[in-house]
Amino acid sequence: MLSNSEKKESKSEKLKEELFLNNKKSGALKLKEDQLKKSNEFSVEYKKFLNLCKTEREVVEYCVSLAKEKSFKEFDPTKKYKSGDKVYYVNRNKALVLCIIGKHGVKKGTKLSIAHIDSPRIDLKPNPLYETNNLAFFKTHYYGGIKKYQWLALPLALHGVIVRKDGKIQNITLGENEGEVQFCITDLLPHLAKEQMSKNVSKAIEGENLNVLVGSLPFKDEKGSDLVKLNIMSLLNKKYGIVEEDFTCADLCMVPAFKATDIGFDSSMVGAYGHDDRVCAYPTLKAILDVKNIPDETIIAVLTDREEIGSDGNTGMKCDYLKYFIMDLAKHDGAEYHHVLSKSKCLSSDVNSAFDPTYSSVYDVNNSSHINGGVVITKYTGSGGKSGTSDASAEFMNYVRTFLDKEKILWQTGELGKVDAGGGGTIAKYIANLNVDVVDLGIPVLSMHAPFEVISKIDLYEAYRAILAFFKV
Ligand code: MN
Ligand code: MN
Repeated sequence: MLSNSEKKESKSEKLKEELFLNNKKSGALKLKEDQLKKSNEFSVEYKKFLNLCKTEREVVEYCVSLAKEKSFKEFDPTKKYKSGDKVYYVNRNKALVLCIIGKHGVKKGTKLSIAHIDSPRIDLKPNPLYETNNLAFFKTHYYGGIKKYQWLALPLALHGVIVRKDGKIQNITLGENEGEVQFCITDLLPHLAKEQMSKNVSKAIEGENLNVLVGSLPFKDEKGSDLVKLNIMSLLNKKYGIVEEDFTCADLCMVPAFKATDIGFDSSMVGAYGHDDRVCAYPTLKAILDVKNIPDETIIAVLTDREEIGSDGNTGMKCDYLKYFIMDLAKHDGAEYHHVLSKSKCLSSDVNSAFDPTYSSVYDVNNSSHINGGVVITKYTGSGGKSGTSDASAEFMNYVRTFLDKEKILWQTGELGKVDAGGGGTIAKYIANLNVDVVDLGIPVLSMHAPFEVISKIDLYEAYRAILAFFKV
């Protein structure tokens, strides 16, 4: 029984419950035990995906094989598709569109969920191999927004493709399997880092110094120069059939060699390389593969490339490849593609920065996303007075809230950080420019863009449920 004073308190508590946004307690307390269990199960397959797929090419290959198992057929732009047909379109092995034709075709618009599958990494230069002081290195040019110091003295794996003169495409993955060689960028010992340590962090490590150590033994010969380099080239020639010039026709990069792993005594989180944005790409893929009934509107999942460098290039969202795909569907459906686009809706499935209590000064706590708070809706990104961003309308925000609430999906809103603390963007604005309603919906990440990022299993599973609910609305 409550005492009278407690009853009085409960009156205000009751009113608060009615009127206030209830985002103070952990989202984990709002979930049932079986939901926690399901989120843990979902993360098991996700970790396998992360370990297998560290580059956009690897993600595309993996996703196409899963899509084929679920009866998706390669897209033929000359063909008219009927309701229920499932197709996939691969753009230059680096971006993927998966589509299920709805009962209304595309006439009433489409539903899009778009995530990106490139992550910050260390790319090799076109002429990477050199020798100095009897050590061999690769010259690199980093890809995406990184804090350079985080990439030193870490085990790295080599991923990518190299096209030989005979035209054969040689896939390379080295450093992922037990016992395979790995690589690293060396760092200066603290004993001799007096000058370096006095520098600004952004200046302490030069981009030009991100050289990857790749060998130390010389080719056995009494005379001659560049013998360590020669030994490496000879090993590469034996293993992959390549000569030095073939490096100019390659997409090769260094990525962290470590595996995805559970974080915390309670195993509630996952630490890994490349959560941004595979943590949204995976639920997007799973959602479209798990749609059982034919949807009303045509649904489209896009896994795109080049987001981390601003979406430029013919596999990024500034390219018209998605528009052309929709144009082809519209043409065969007797619809104008611009009408289709203007009736379309999109979830730009990308991550947001999770509130980090250790660095609380850069966050507005009430407008940040929190670990275990569920899927995060980011109304706008950008910086400097909402510059460089789309801003989802009140009406579209309500549309999203409504289907999330209907399915009892845990959700929260979040801005990237405090006003003028910095900023960032996603692909949302490029989709908005097509006259599509769009909002960012993704997952909070700790240590975003670090070689090892952290997410919550609850948030991951809620993102899957959210995207599936969107496809089914
Ligand atoms: Mn991202
Ligand atoms: Mn990013």
